[in-house]
Amino acid sequence: MRNPLLIVLVSASVALVSCNASRSNEAGSPADKIFLKDFNPIVVNNIPVTHVERAKFDIIDMHAHDYAANIEEVEQWTKVMDQVGVLNTAVMHCSWIGRPFEEYVELYAPFKDHFKFWCCFDYTGIGEEGWPENAIATLERCKEMGAIGVGELGDKGEGDTYARPGDGHNIHIDDPRVKPLIEKAGELKMPISIHIAEPYWMYLPMDETNDGLVNAVTWHVDTTNCYGYNKLMESFENAVRENPGTIFIACHYLNMTHDLPRLGALLDKYPNMYFDISARVAESAHTPRATREFLIKYQDRVLFGTDNGMEAPMYQTIFRVLETNDEHFYCPELGYHWALSGFNLPDEVLKKLYHDNAERILTEYK
Ligand SMILES: [Zn+2]
Repeated sequence: MRNPLLIVLVSASVALVSCNASRSNEAGSPADKIFLKDFNPIVVNNIPVTHVERAKFDIIDMHAHDYAANIEEVEQWTKVMDQVGVLNTAVMHCSWIGRPFEEYVELYAPFKDHFKFWCCFDYTGIGEEGWPENAIATLERCKEMGAIGVGELGDKGEGDTYARPGDGHNIHIDDPRVKPLIEKAGELKMPISIHIAEPYWMYLPMDETNDGLVNAVTWHVDTTNCYGYNKLMESFENAVRENPGTIFIACHYLNMTHDLPRLGALLDKYPNMYFDISARVAESAHTPRATREFLIKYQDRVLFGTDNGMEAPMYQTIFRVLETNDEHFYCPELGYHWALSGFNLPDEVLKKLYHDNAERILTEYK
């Protein structure tokens, strides 16, 4: 008679081999056919999924742009803001969307309680006679028309690429020629919002070791003929240090979500520096514990910002990350392959982040 135990073992071992075969990495298996860019997983975990319709506290959004093409879109945007709990939004004029400052103020004017205007530095004629007087006059004129801040300035290595109407190429924020304008902004109580560099992996080789590969393929930075990451950070720090009377808002966590201790060291050193969380949901929510700890520690220096359009789901995704304890969810629309988790921030931190810190900068600073 055959040993029954032996039969069981043999069967088990056959089953195991069969399972292993289905997981193999041989040519022709799914692992060889699926591209990272097509990765679109569905979460199978039975865990809480929270939809946050409206922010827990009133919001001042310190980072958006003049997205609306016409008055109907401006009005629609205000309806979304009312729905999700945004009191008012900084519509920054320095960007790639192009209408003159006067026209943009005019467009949003019927809903001016909902929007705050931000203008650029005008570098027209920089270095020539009459500059910076002309640029200062332009800044003062923008302030008279309603601008409450300067920005978004942007330096990704080649100078202020968001500048308008003058060309900001090769003009970095610590350029001595710009100093009179920065000082004037401080005098006029206009904070400067500035985008420096890009997320760190955009500078790294686009190979299998790049943690941000899906996004970096689109947004890779070539530093051959321009400032690299550290040189840009140096230029920003120089400007913040040399202009203590001017408030600087480093957009997007200063593109340091990968190295929060480094960002914290700068905040410790420079009381005139703040940061906004705009457009870095994925970069922060895949390290939720480190980010939560950081936001609690620097709760007086953080500002809410979106930088991602005018739709309700965009706001609600950010609320989910900030307010809930949800774990392991994907936002493929953000363009990353990471799973995100919420920060579950305490109420007193949320209030400051959403509203109070911005209110303080925009009123007490005046
Ligand atoms: Zn922006």
